[in-house]
Amino acid sequence: MQPKAYTLTLNQVEQDLQSLGNAPDTAGLVLNLIYRSRHKSFEQYSQLSKKARDHFKENYAHELPTIVRRQNSTDGTVKLLLGLEDGESVESVLLPFYKKYTLCVSSQVGCAMNCKFCFTATQGFKRNLRPHEIIGQVLKAKEVLKEMGEKRDIANVVFMGQGEPLHNFEALKEAISILTEPKGLGLGKRSITVSTSGYLPGLKRFEELGGVNLALSLHSTNDEVRSRLIPINNRYPLNDVLAQIDRLERHERQTVEYEYLLIDDLNDSKEDAKDLARVLNTRTHMINIIPFNPFPGSEFKRPAPERVEEFKQWLVEEDARVMVRKTKGDDILAACGQLKS
Ligand code: SF4
Repeated sequence: MQPKAYTLTLNQVEQDLQSLGNAPDTAGLVLNLIYRSRHKSFEQYSQLSKKARDHFKENYAHELPTIVRRQNSTDGTVKLLLGLEDGESVESVLLPFYKKYTLCVSSQVGCAMNCKFCFTATQGFKRNLRPHEIIGQVLKAKEVLKEMGEKRDIANVVFMGQGEPLHNFEALKEAISILTEPKGLGLGKRSITVSTSGYLPGLKRFEELGGVNLALSLHSTNDEVRSRLIPINNRYPLNDVLAQIDRLERHERQTVEYEYLLIDDLNDSKEDAKDLARVLNTRTHMINIIPFNPFPGSEFKRPAPERVEEFKQWLVEEDARVMVRKTKGDDILAACGQLKS
């Protein structure tokens, strides 16, 4: 099987051009054509010499994943189920925010972490995505926006879809370096967020990702409750995870966000709020409260809106920095924790 053109780096293109006797300084143009212009085939890349066009056509595949299903939410969210070459599929979600879109991408087919609040967990772990399958989600989503006649583009990519991204570290790292290549897709490091359930081996390597934002699924400061929600907390307890995050060398404006899934009658008491503030107030933090999003067969319930507001106020009273994430796409099972392929 041919490698995909949309994993090519500047260095690789320069080497290819040199081997053809072409000036390597056109490598930026090649990346621009592959990642931004996205014509249907290499033949349409008329800015390149015929020799270069033939070379890329013969050696690299151009096709993106196929759309198996597309669902549009009433709030503008678009969920894509994308078909991969081996018959597996993954979901990506386009979320509109004012003048831009955020794209939520998947990093694995299924997931091994088995979090009890997550629909993906019910399908088990099938396999890691390869870098081109991650980049393919971004390029396909861009194509969909273009077809929709949408002027707004994807400004942020969040690894919050199916899979634990730090459990697929090498592919994640390669995908991030492709996403942030200035002559390619050109996303800024701070426009990318990697969310983890607290997978410590990956967190120990987090600095290798070059300064992208981090989000930790915290959900409870009580190890018993957290282990019930996120079983790998038994192996990598919260204290160890937080200590590792504290050790990370942060770049300017690089953020760490603590996600707190609020579940009715499980982690939504005043005591829970006080404990959360106590644990995080000694750290630079932002707490993102996510009211639980139900899915078929889920054992938990979303708290009433009044309780969500009350919980937020309890945190504010404790001087914690907090916001409530607006639920998007839950009518098409596209909200946080609702993806399944
Ligand atoms: S929440 Fe994330 S890490 Fe946990 S099972 Fe779902 S996809 Fe995996």
